[in-house]
Amino acid sequence: MSVRTRFAPSPTGLLHVGGARTALFCWLYARHCGGSFVLRIEDTDRERSTEASVNAILEGMAWLGLDYDEGPFYQTQRMALYHDQIERLLSEGKAYRCYCTRERIEALREEQRAKGIKPRYDGRCRKLSTPPPGAPDPVVRFKNPREGEVVVDDLIRGHVVFANAELDDLIIARPDGTPTYNFTVVVDDLEMRITHVIRGDDHINNTPRQINILHALGGARPVYAHVPMILGPDGQRLSKRHGAVSVLQFRDDGFLPEALLNYLVRLGWSHGDQEIFSVSELVQLFDIADVNKAASVFDFDKLLWLNQHYIKQADATRVAAELERHMAQLGLDVGDGPDLSEVVNVQRERAKTLVEMVEKSAFAFRDFDDYEETAAKKHLKTVALEPLRSVRESLDSVSEWTPQAIHQAVLEAAESTGVKLGKLAQPLRVAVTGTAVSPSIDQTLWLVGKSRALARIDAAVAHIERAAASA
Ligand code: GLU
Repeated sequence: MSVRTRFAPSPTGLLHVGGARTALFCWLYARHCGGSFVLRIEDTDRERSTEASVNAILEGMAWLGLDYDEGPFYQTQRMALYHDQIERLLSEGKAYRCYCTRERIEALREEQRAKGIKPRYDGRCRKLSTPPPGAPDPVVRFKNPREGEVVVDDLIRGHVVFANAELDDLIIARPDGTPTYNFTVVVDDLEMRITHVIRGDDHINNTPRQINILHALGGARPVYAHVPMILGPDGQRLSKRHGAVSVLQFRDDGFLPEALLNYLVRLGWSHGDQEIFSVSELVQLFDIADVNKAASVFDFDKLLWLNQHYIKQADATRVAAELERHMAQLGLDVGDGPDLSEVVNVQRERAKTLVEMVEKSAFAFRDFDDYEETAAKKHLKTVALEPLRSVRESLDSVSEWTPQAIHQAVLEAAESTGVKLGKLAQPLRVAVTGTAVSPSIDQTLWLVGKSRALARIDAAVAHIERAAASA
């Protein structure tokens, strides 16, 4: 039987790293087994589900490269199917209408609590054949077996046993007829022929209830794998308090998708002490049964380290494609400067994130308003006038604007004015970037481009002259 996994997010918020890791595990396992990966949007909670959240999920998955073979299926479009199955269970006597009022249920709970027993429905309406007079609209409850146990051999958690006596007669349809969460999941897992349910372990207590419903519907149960939680560095469940937690936030903060994927897979899964994995390697090596039982701690520094690794290693045109987004975010015009893959090649050793890379390269795309004060004070002084004029002249005569030709021109200017290269390079750097820090001077000039470089040198010369005149 071919493996079929599904990712089933509720679109009530952003795609956070926990969800993304679940999606990744589902995707990897399907790919590893040559099976199918299904995307199902669990949007039946109409008050909390939003279209913005659906879009964030789809966008996040697309950015991470988690492509699905089927879907996205929307549960709100599948209501007829759930209603049919509820009717079926009712007619087969496997579910029943419950007319108990809210007040009765609350009183029952109070009583049970007072007696120190776990609150649960007492099954009063189980045997009712006609509605009591004046009863409110009923809910539909599933007739959960009263005896026996549900045994789950979870691929991650191992052997877990649940006593049926602990389980309630779950409500599967509300008074308005809408199905509830645990029911729609089962119907869909069955109808979509899901073989492996891989999900967060906050769902482990739903599993025995779902298995009982699944059996009642006559389905074969899938294999379950409950993935442990992700914690923040303080040991608490990872949340916004700890920093960025949504996939699109990491994207906007300048991470590469391959870095985030590589980071996420290692949260709970390992292969010896290997840290760096290409996607094809992961597809080959990943097995859901190898995922750790213990919760993992999110380590922002390690993610940053991986990001830097991929920025250094990845194909320049690929990184350049990602860089475009960040250029736009900073209001820089891609058309008004060097080719982005050249920027990547020059800056890749100097940036931990793509945002940092763009910030450090802004000088090549946009004129700066002012020099950095300390840099200008230190380097744009009268002694720099002659070397700057000289280098302007030799740069002007460079016909082919390459780092080598630029290097040669700068050397010549230094020699002809009798200053050390450093004494020329720093004023020149401040002149063309406004700051004292940039890549090597030939690469810096190369990125800036000839006409812009000459104009900026002119401006620096004028700046020094003005300062001298007003001194
Ligand atoms: N919709 C559920 C959630 O977002 C997942 C349900 C499942 O995977 O079974 O938590």
